[in-house]
Amino acid sequence: MDKYLIQPETCVNLDDFTTYYDGEIKKKDGKARLKEHNKTLRDLQELLYAEGKRKVLVILQGIDTSGKDSTIEHVFGDVNPQGTKVVNFKVPSKKELAHDYLWRVHQHTPGSGEIVIFNRSHYEDVLVVRVHDLVPESVWGKRYEHINAFEKLLADEGTTIMKFFLNVSKKEQAERFLARLDRPQKRWKFNPDDLEERKHWDHYKAAYEDMLSRTSTPWAPWYVIPCDRKWYRNLVIASIIEDTIKNLEMQYPAEVENIDSYRDRLETMIAEG
Ligand code: ADP
Repeated sequence: MDKYLIQPETCVNLDDFTTYYDGEIKKKDGKARLKEHNKTLRDLQELLYAEGKRKVLVILQGIDTSGKDSTIEHVFGDVNPQGTKVVNFKVPSKKELAHDYLWRVHQHTPGSGEIVIFNRSHYEDVLVVRVHDLVPESVWGKRYEHINAFEKLLADEGTTIMKFFLNVSKKEQAERFLARLDRPQKRWKFNPDDLEERKHWDHYKAAYEDMLSRTSTPWAPWYVIPCDRKWYRNLVIASIIEDTIKNLEMQYPAEVENIDSYRDRLETMIAEG
């Protein structure tokens, strides 16, 4: 899975990255493998929660239709909601805008024993904000450094960070918009503004390339995931998260002493009714 990892200081050109997986894994096998990852992730999250020491932050970024919501559903669908949290970052409120852009983010970072998934994130402040000139370049241009320092702070204080860029092609995006119109249950997801946003495709591409080039660090790496095939996207992301959490080498807390004496007491209680 390291082939999807962006090494620090790489100058990223998204034209070099495929959005469509056409390797050897077949869809049916990929889906079966995902089920295995789901089970393992459920066990790992339980261990993480029981141990209560590590913190895990997963960041998902990608254009509309890239599948951020669906990834969360399919990768984390089996995980116990206790100890897991999804945070969606929308257009900032008046109060949020009155503070620095990391203020609203920091309060949602994971505590000990928690997994937090960011559906969009502080990276919007170098993406949509840049594309739409919401602040001048003299302001957003400094944010890459802030973000690296902020994520270093989180990592130094015990947070494991994984960042996924969900890479879809322009054609696939149009097809997914159309699919939303074609399926009555999905129509609510269609927003005509999304088509306006699509006109900025090249500008977004440049902003994503800068983000990936400047903020993939040893303590908070970016992975660029080919997302035109949804099952493959889910498989790769689940597999990277599983490997990363496994590497934390977590342990269940120490057992209570004298287990046998407690067992005896409980068996007596049951016998006595
Ligand atoms: P989603 O597309 O994530 O399902 P929405 O349709 O509500 O949810 O979109 C959220 C919107 O909020 C996106 O257009 C995104 O660019 C915008 N947004 C998020 N963070 C910021 C920010 N810091 N500044 C401006 N807009 C933002």
